[in-house]
Amino acid sequence: MQLASSTPSPGSVAGEPAHSATHARLESEWLDPTLLADVRRHGRFDAHCLNCGGCSVACELSDESLTLPRRPLRGVLLGLKATTRASLEPWVCHDCGDCAIACPQKANPAESMRTLRRYLTGQYDFTGLSRRILRSKAWHLGALGVVFAIVLALLVVYHLYWAELTMTDFVGTALPMEHMFPKIKYFTWIVYGIPLVFLTLHAWRMQRLTMGRLGVPLRHYFMEAWMIFVQVVTQKRMRQCPAEQRRQRALELFKSEGKEAGVHLVPRRWIKHWLMAAGTMAMLVITGLFLAWFQTDAVHAWYHPQRLLGYVATACILWATTDILVRRARTPRAERRPNALAMPLLLWLTAVSGIVVHVVRVLGLELTTHYAYAAHLLITVPMVVVELPFGEWAHMIDRPLALYFHAVRLRAAAEQPSEAGLVPVHTS
Ligand code: SF4
Ligand code: SF4
Repeated sequence: MQLASSTPSPGSVAGEPAHSATHARLESEWLDPTLLADVRRHGRFDAHCLNCGGCSVACELSDESLTLPRRPLRGVLLGLKATTRASLEPWVCHDCGDCAIACPQKANPAESMRTLRRYLTGQYDFTGLSRRILRSKAWHLGALGVVFAIVLALLVVYHLYWAELTMTDFVGTALPMEHMFPKIKYFTWIVYGIPLVFLTLHAWRMQRLTMGRLGVPLRHYFMEAWMIFVQVVTQKRMRQCPAEQRRQRALELFKSEGKEAGVHLVPRRWIKHWLMAAGTMAMLVITGLFLAWFQTDAVHAWYHPQRLLGYVATACILWATTDILVRRARTPRAERRPNALAMPLLLWLTAVSGIVVHVVRVLGLELTTHYAYAAHLLITVPMVVVELPFGEWAHMIDRPLALYFHAVRLRAAAEQPSEAGLVPVHTS
């Protein structure tokens, strides 16, 4: 069914600027009555919204160019599939929960935004695997299981056929680290290359869906390219969220009135998230580019850069993932988001198995190191190959790219407002 020109845009509310370019687009947009149901397959999405706008007033990240969370949520409720897929707002949201506290309907818009992000991740992936993995626990576990089985088979084939060990030697002899080089280096490049290829295609499709119809000149993309680097390194948008004390007071007020906001306070969110991302990136770079330096039989002094770098990166990952796991495990099952434990648990297991490999190596337990390293690979490889390109980890590129595309839209709008497409235009 086609949207009548008199239908209000999802951005229109008393007191807000008119969104002329968006409105013009909506006049020709087809409604998809299955959109809400499809989004809901990715998690919880409450449809009891009154469109009052209270959530957008409460959101510190909302401004005249990005009305979150109400506008993207409204788009879903109206069945505006193209507008929803072109929306950058869900990625600007940093999941603080202020909108859920403000919502008079207790519709938990923060949770709906989370679900919308999962839906969009599936839309950016052209293979369709992401959609299946994000909607189905069986597909998620199945994908991890298949990669696990492939790695196990490769370990056996390598030792029995390439290294030509007998079965007795395979299970009872520890070969020195050098026997793996350079093969393990190429294996690591292939393992990291798989998500790299799929994430590049994912980014390209995201650009097509969010920017494709706008025809923004290429020079604006070049002028704003620095934004990706800044967002990846600093995650500064998350720091714009308001003081935790204020949110804590609001939640306590709710509790004293016997109400539930449906959100939980996460103390020091930005630093925890930053440390986890920095530790993970550091490990990916070290093992991807400097594996022969990082992974040796020689046990250096504890202050050697090789050991210190590994300790710092592992500590960052371990602290942040333990905190996430404890909080999510304490959340009542009914309130838990789908697959809430998978990603932090895999990252936590990777860090812990890496620590075990290091400790037994330092203790000189060669055969135990051999088995511990195999276990470490069996955990790490499925995580990198499945979670990074097809799971929620894809947000590592979706967030910075969304902020970059938004900056490109703003630059284009400043130069030529009539061609700015989705960027709201003040008419008053
Ligand atoms: S969760 Fe926080 S950042 Fe996200 S829309 Fe709600 S108030 Fe805004
Ligand atoms: S505050 Fe609640 S009811 Fe009002 S627009 Fe936001 S989600 Fe809808």
